[in-house]
Amino acid sequence: MSDTARATEPRVLIRPDKDTFLAEENPFEAMMERFDHAAKLLNLDPGLYKVLRNPEKQIIVSVPVVRDSGEVEVYTGYRVLYNTSRGPAKGGIRFDLNVTLEEVKALAAWMTWKCALVNIPFGGSKGGVVCDPTAMSMGELERLTRRYTSGIIETLGPDSDVPAPDVNTNERVMAWIMDTYSMHKRHTVTAVVTGKPVEMGGSLGRREATGRGCTFVTREALARLGMALKGARIAVQGFGNVGSITADLLAKEGAVIVAVADKSGGLHNPQGLDVPDLLRWVRERRQLAGYPKADPITGEELLTTDCDVLVPAATENVITRKNAPNIRAKIICEGANGPTTAAADKVLEEKGIFVIPDILANAGGVTVSYFEWVQDRGGYFWDEETVNRRLESIMVKSFHDVVALADKHKVNTRIAAYMLAVGRVAAMHRLRGMYA
Ligand code: GLU
Repeated sequence: MSDTARATEPRVLIRPDKDTFLAEENPFEAMMERFDHAAKLLNLDPGLYKVLRNPEKQIIVSVPVVRDSGEVEVYTGYRVLYNTSRGPAKGGIRFDLNVTLEEVKALAAWMTWKCALVNIPFGGSKGGVVCDPTAMSMGELERLTRRYTSGIIETLGPDSDVPAPDVNTNERVMAWIMDTYSMHKRHTVTAVVTGKPVEMGGSLGRREATGRGCTFVTREALARLGMALKGARIAVQGFGNVGSITADLLAKEGAVIVAVADKSGGLHNPQGLDVPDLLRWVRERRQLAGYPKADPITGEELLTTDCDVLVPAATENVITRKNAPNIRAKIICEGANGPTTAAADKVLEEKGIFVIPDILANAGGVTVSYFEWVQDRGGYFWDEETVNRRLESIMVKSFHDVVALADKHKVNTRIAAYMLAVGRVAAMHRLRGMYA
């Protein structure tokens, strides 16, 4: 089947039995299971519980694109605004064949909790287009981006919904979104997206922000376990923006990167991989496979490799109840959104693995997105050192807030993170009251 055919294949949404593996892999169910647990501990009143279980708005658009061949293809695009009580909706856009409405809903909810957790004045949203960007030309991608943007334009805006990069989107795509929105508004609106090129109102340090945030919280977690970052053995799954930068920054702090993997395969070297050399390799060949100076391993083997810190930085549902019992890391730093299923949480807790949950671990990206939005609206730009210092202070504080709550309520760090975040969103709803 061609990529184009797959891109437009109708998707059946399944809401399977809770006990099946399929349920384990439904990201919205995975989010809800943790939310329910936190809501119970917070004693959330039943009305608010119902409000927070449902996304505010779900948009589905058809995105017609003229392919380079002259043929017209129609893609499906989603944008979900989960909750906007604390401020404009905020969240990335991904281009991927695996995008579904259930996934986008879960990711939008995670953005809501993430922004509340690091206490920035945003709600949460997410978007996605079902497509295979690797099978599309630059021109096709531009047309897809602009048409999708115009499809969701009513809800976009610096005060209502602010996209950013996510899986398979980057600053190039953000520039097209900013231009399309600005052309409709008849004036330049830089603050409508974040993760833009620095030359057009992007923030210094935004590209590295998610990986840099992961580095800060990994350092704090190691210190909590009485371990030093220098010499800590790290395995990173995913070598895109988040994984590659996390590996690079941790290596620069003296950690030993023992394994990395991307879609093409993985590499292992217990003595430590040369990350700058890997970055050069990937820049030229766009994949890790074939790199000669390490032993090949599979992505699955990487998860259970001998290491101190495991960084899943690729996609959802990679740590499941099947492989969790074999994980040897002492710390898991979730660079990706939703890499661990709810069933696997229980196994990790029993094993005493310290989890830095996704809504904390990868919040560095949206934190610097917030800085970018502030800078765009103020028209005054900060130097990189200021960005990084402010990011560090937010990440370190949020880490310790989560750990303190986990200790206080004797719950794991993921449930503590949800309690902190859901509690903040709930407090805002209570103060605002119900508009009837
Ligand atoms: N896509 C990133 C995330 O999942 C960044 C979102 C943003 O900056 O708005 O956190």
